[in-house]
Amino acid sequence: MKVAVFSTKAYERPYFDECNATAGHQLVYFEASLNSDTVNLAQGFDAVCLFVNDTANAAVITQLAAGGVRLIDLRSAGFNHVDIAAAVAKGITVLRVPAYSPQAVAEHALALIMTLNRKTNKAYNRVRENNFSVDNLMGFNLYGKTVGVIGTGKIGAAFCQIMLGIGCQVVAHDIVENAALQTKGVTYLPLEELLPIADIVSLHCPLTPATYHLFNAKAFAALKPGAMLINTGRGALIDTGAAISALKSGRLGYLGMDVYEQEENLFFKDLSASIMQDDTIARLMTFNNVLVTPHLAFFTHEALNEIAHTTIQNFTDFENGHFTANEVKLSHIAK
Ligand code: NAD
Repeated sequence: MKVAVFSTKAYERPYFDECNATAGHQLVYFEASLNSDTVNLAQGFDAVCLFVNDTANAAVITQLAAGGVRLIDLRSAGFNHVDIAAAVAKGITVLRVPAYSPQAVAEHALALIMTLNRKTNKAYNRVRENNFSVDNLMGFNLYGKTVGVIGTGKIGAAFCQIMLGIGCQVVAHDIVENAALQTKGVTYLPLEELLPIADIVSLHCPLTPATYHLFNAKAFAALKPGAMLINTGRGALIDTGAAISALKSGRLGYLGMDVYEQEENLFFKDLSASIMQDDTIARLMTFNNVLVTPHLAFFTHEALNEIAHTTIQNFTDFENGHFTANEVKLSHIAK
């Protein structure tokens, strides 16, 4: 089938081309993101292939349908950037890559924790200037600390295993409890009971109407003073303004974020020659206890391989009319 691949980066093309060598789909790569200004590029294609910062809202979907698109294939697990109801209404199927490497994201959450805690980023810069002082680099043992995990699906479960392995007490909150994790020692708690006892909270739930700004001023007020918050889920799980207030007051001791509410204007782009226009992230980056990575958690060789493989298989299954468990349906959207 003929596919318009949006937001293409040079590093992912070899993975897609290799997987497509036998499948034989006609892939046309666009560096542009999909939005109302670029949707005309998809005219005459059977499918569009999207990444996390492409926008497929109702208006864009109406134009995609009018141009002949029958499939939106996401090379991501999250689907919050697609209006699923609008796609269903227009008869467009939405497929995704539900799991490519939960470990990639879970391990990156650990990397954020370890860097914020043991300040290896600061030590690296310090010793390169022949400064071998350890002043202000003190961390804390993770062993024995209480880690709160919000969302214990594929990534959250992998993260729980890592933290249990380190010797942490793991408490969790999810709308569905995972019995296998409970047998390994994870205790499920209501959010209001988890927040005051967790030394570290890590977010692994999807962005839905129910989880939008899950971390607002009220949630920050309930946090254990000085706690660490890690977000590798989606930016809008956190009210960024409330996070800044909590950092200023000291209630929030550390913030590690791989995702950001307004990331579509920044992440995956080299803006090093531009003037920063986003005052919110500029403020965030002035805190010495904040670590921002640019939606990097998924970015491993194994994950890219799996994303390409499943995405190409999705095209083939759709073309052949095969049922696929990778379809995103209206029932997936939590209210
Ligand atoms: P998953 O569907 O396997 O798990 C999500 C879990 O969240 C489920 O157990 C679900 O019951 C739970 N959940 C849903 N609503 C909830 C709520 N209101 N409160 C608490 N828990 C709730 O998904 P996954 O593969 O583990 O991925 C989780 C999220 O991670 C994705 O939705 C995506 O947004 C994000 N993600 C980020 C990256 C990255 O590179 N930073 C990569 C992949 C996925």
